[in-house]
Amino acid sequence: MAKEKKLVEAITAMEDDFAQWYTDVVKKAELADYSSVRGCMILRPNGYAIWENIQKVLDAKFKETGVENVAMPMFIPESLLKKEEDHVEGFAPEVAWVTHGGDKELQERLCVRPTSETLFCDFYSRIIQSHRDLPKLYNQWVSVVRWEKTTRPFLRTSEFFWQEGHTAHATAEEAEARTVQMLNMYADFCEQYLAIPVVKGQKTEKEKFAGAHSTYTIEALMHDGKALQSGTSHNFGDGFAKAFDIQYTDKDNKLQYVHQTSWGMSTRIIGAIIMVHGDDSGLVLPPKIAPIQTMIVPIMQKKAGVLEKAEEIRSKLAGSYKVKVDDSDKSPGWKFSEQEVRGIPTRIEIGPKDIEKNQAVIVRRDTREKIIVSLDEIETKLGEVLEQMQSDMFERAKKHLEEHTVEARTWDEFKEHIEKQDGFVKAMWCGETECEEAIKEETTATTRCMPFEQEHLSDVCVHCGKPAKKLVYFGKAY
Ligand SMILES: [Zn+2]
Repeated sequence: MAKEKKLVEAITAMEDDFAQWYTDVVKKAELADYSSVRGCMILRPNGYAIWENIQKVLDAKFKETGVENVAMPMFIPESLLKKEEDHVEGFAPEVAWVTHGGDKELQERLCVRPTSETLFCDFYSRIIQSHRDLPKLYNQWVSVVRWEKTTRPFLRTSEFFWQEGHTAHATAEEAEARTVQMLNMYADFCEQYLAIPVVKGQKTEKEKFAGAHSTYTIEALMHDGKALQSGTSHNFGDGFAKAFDIQYTDKDNKLQYVHQTSWGMSTRIIGAIIMVHGDDSGLVLPPKIAPIQTMIVPIMQKKAGVLEKAEEIRSKLAGSYKVKVDDSDKSPGWKFSEQEVRGIPTRIEIGPKDIEKNQAVIVRRDTREKIIVSLDEIETKLGEVLEQMQSDMFERAKKHLEEHTVEARTWDEFKEHIEKQDGFVKAMWCGETECEEAIKEETTATTRCMPFEQEHLSDVCVHCGKPAKKLVYFGKAY
C-alpha cells in the first residue's frame, strides 16, 4: 500500500508551494519534461494529445470562417525583420540568430521566427494586387522561438507551439471585425471546451503587441490569484502595409493599403488548464478536451470473465467516447492514482461483484463522486456524467473568478489587494503610460486589460489622482 500512495504523495500541496505543485503536476502527469536544450521542453504524449485536441477544435472553427492553413519558413532575414520599426524593437531582445550555414558565415543573419508578421507581409506584398485578391485569411500551426531567461513548462519556454493567423483586408472596418471575431472565438473556446472563464478586453499602449494598432486579449485567473494572458488578437491597421508596401487597386482603380490582423493561441493555454482546474492529486481535465475521457479499471482482473467484461464495456462505449482499459498488472489502487494524476475525467470500476449485479461504478475525477450504473444504461449515463462534470468545472472556475475579482478605490486598497494576490483588481486609471509604469514599479502589478464591459468606480486614477479615463483589470501575471 505504501508504494501505491507514492504517486500522489510526490505532488507538493498547492497551499504549501504553488510553483512546486505546478511543476510536480507537469512531471507526474507526464505532460512535459525538460530537454538538453536550455529552456526548451519536450511535450510528452499526454501533453501533446491535449494540444492535438485543442488544434482539432480551433482549426475547424477557423476554417468555418474561411481561414486557410499555410506553412512559412522558420527563418526571417534580418532586413525583413527590421522593416517595421516598433516590431523589431519589441522582439529584438529575445531573438535567436543563425549566423552560419555549415562553416560559412552568412551574408545576412537569419532570425529564427519569434512570430511571422514580417514573412506574411512580405508574401502579401507580392500576391495581393487587386481588391479581388482580398481578403487573405491565412493561418499556420508552428513553433516559434523567443530566447527567454527564465523558463517554466508551458508558461514560458524558449520554443513553444502555437497557431498564428494573419489576415489582410480591404478596409479598416473589416480588419477590426476580424480582430474581434477571433478574440470572441478564443473566448468561446476557453469557456465551452476548456471550462475556463475569461475577461475580454483591450491591452494598454504599453502592453499591446509590438507594431499593432490595438491588441485585444482574453485573461484568465489561476488558482493562486495570478492572471494568465490566454489568447490575443491584434489589429495592425495599415501600419505594416505601409512598411511592406502592400497595396491593391480598389474598384475605382485607385491604389489602397490593406488593413491587417494577427491572432494567436499557444501551448501556454495548457498551463492555464493545469492551474485553473488541477488539485492536490494532480491534473483535472475538462471532458471536452481530455484525450481519454474514461479509464476502465478492472477489479480482481484475474478472475474469470472480468477482463472480458471490461473489454465488452470498452467496445460499447468506444463509438461515443474516448475510452481505454487499464489491464496492466498494476494494482487497482495504483491505477486509480495514475488516472487521478493524469486528470482523466472519469474511471469505470468493474469487478466480479459488479458483474453479478450487472452494474459498474463511474467515479468522477473532480468530485470523486461514485455513481453506480446499470450496464444496460452505461452509455447514456457516462455521457450525462461527463456533461455534468464539464459544466460543474466551468461554474467552479467562474465562481473563483468572481470571488477573486476585487475593486480598489484608493491606492492603499490597491496595494493591499495586490500584495495579498487577491486576484484581478479592478481600478480606475488615468490612461498615462508613466503612471502605469509607476504602478508596476511599486507593486509588480501589470494592467491585464481594459475590459470591454466598462464600469465607473470613481472619477480619479487610483494611483495618481488625475481624471480617470478607463476601468482597468490589474493583477500579477504569469
Ligand atoms: Zn494615473
